[in-house]
Amino acid sequence: MSIIGNLRPSKNSLPCEIDSLGVHAKLRYDLDAIGLASTDYGNIVHEIPSAVLYPTSIDDIIELIKFSNECPLPFNVAARGHGHSVRGQAMAHDGVVVNMLSLKKHYKNGNGIRVSTSGNYADVGGEQLWIDVLNATLEHGLAPLSWTDYLYLTVGGTLSNAGFSGQTFLYGPQISNVLELDVITGKGDFMTCSKDQNSELFYAVLGGLGLFGIITRARIVLAKAPKRVKWVRMIYSDFSIFTRDQEHLISTKGLEYLEGSLLMDYTPAHNWRSSFFSPSNESQIISLLKKHGILYCLDMVKYYDDETANSVDKDVQMLQEGLNFIPGFTFMRDETYVDFLNRVRRGEITLKSKGLWDVPNPWLNLLVPKSCILDFNAGVFVDIIHRQKKTTGPLLVFPLTKIVWDDKMSAVVPDEDIFYSVGLLHSGSFNDWQDLDNQNNEILEFCDRAGIKIKQYLPHYKSKEEWIKHFGPKWNTFQERKAQFDPRMILSPGQNIFNYV
Ligand code: FAD
Repeated sequence: MSIIGNLRPSKNSLPCEIDSLGVHAKLRYDLDAIGLASTDYGNIVHEIPSAVLYPTSIDDIIELIKFSNECPLPFNVAARGHGHSVRGQAMAHDGVVVNMLSLKKHYKNGNGIRVSTSGNYADVGGEQLWIDVLNATLEHGLAPLSWTDYLYLTVGGTLSNAGFSGQTFLYGPQISNVLELDVITGKGDFMTCSKDQNSELFYAVLGGLGLFGIITRARIVLAKAPKRVKWVRMIYSDFSIFTRDQEHLISTKGLEYLEGSLLMDYTPAHNWRSSFFSPSNESQIISLLKKHGILYCLDMVKYYDDETANSVDKDVQMLQEGLNFIPGFTFMRDETYVDFLNRVRRGEITLKSKGLWDVPNPWLNLLVPKSCILDFNAGVFVDIIHRQKKTTGPLLVFPLTKIVWDDKMSAVVPDEDIFYSVGLLHSGSFNDWQDLDNQNNEILEFCDRAGIKIKQYLPHYKSKEEWIKHFGPKWNTFQERKAQFDPRMILSPGQNIFNYV
């Protein structure tokens, strides 16, 4: 369904002096540009900007933001990375959306990804997609350590949230793997920052939801890239045994990736996020599902290369020792490192071919304290999701360790050493997504009633009170940083924290 026909961009909401700026020729008001900027992966929120900036240099963004600051009534500016937010976070009602991907085409030297001669890091434009970072660093036999499950997201977009996946228990989220940033603040100042230089800005921006500045370069930690992976999936019928094994594995040396997901008897055993089973595996799983209703899949991965190829199977066997999955229900895949990291792309291509990608995606991503994960399973997975049988998308659940997160950064996580990432990746139709969203609200209300102190990841709230509760003890610092780096509240209006539409 297209919303283009309903678009009425109002150029009038921008001051007419904008036409005298150098960037004026790079502002677009046409329906293609406006349509893209008012749509995201979620397909739920559509905010119409007055214009879209297609920058050819960082100076264009600086000029735009400085100009907004000079206006008696500043207009909002939102960086749009790859637009994979689900609730309009990269949109700017009546403001200007900066199409960051436009920068990719205008590098005079190279492609915006430069690997250091020491091989310890890469300097990467904020507009770069992680898939391009992977391909460019692999040319040097190197790669970043911390990933997201899906690689067609921008560096600036994931660093504004946290960026995590199955490697995070070990290496920390992507925000913990950044050495330095170049940022254009909400005042239009261009600043380089790190833990030692302009550190307040560095900590503000990482996990800062785009509210303090636009990331134009990130220095990302690299290490030697493995060549291949052994990807093992084990099936459980008992949630407490499943989580016990997950927690055991993240405390064990030798594993590079751990995630987990749920299978429900009313949905297919494979989903777009990770198709895994052969048809014969699948029929075994389906009969098991008939018996149990819900099954839990533990996914673990061991990296290897030429030197470790002979020992990797033994290492995997040792990792599996003492685990309590259902006997016989363990499956293994051997893949290249790249194919493994890029696994969700296969699902995307399949969904796109069936017209099922650009549909409403009312996702709910939660971080759940370990102490409450069994109550969460009983109340949410069993009593809401399985009982209502509405959810069709992947349901992810896996533990993360707090020690690898830096509390000075803006990202918010539960106050326990171990917490679980729960991804309810619902996809619906334009007619029924609200049913799924009602279920999301029911889940949030359940957690509230049960005293489960969850934090939302990719947070979405409607009131200031909810945001204050979300940030908890970090709220004052968050506000002070906003006053310091974006005092006129220009940036990232789609987060609905300081600007209400
Ligand atoms: P956008 O949606 O374009 O922007 C997101 C926010 O960041 C906006 O507020 C925007 O203004 C701001 N922003 C964008 N660029 C910049 C910049 N350069 N500087 C400052 N602010 C900026 N997340 C995970 O952590 N792990 C996952 O495994 C994971 N998998 C995903 C899979 C899919 C299919 C999808 C759709 C999302 C997934 N996400 C995951 C969530 C994803 O990390 C966030 O939605 C992220 O913001 C998307 O990046 P983007 O480039 O599309 O950002």
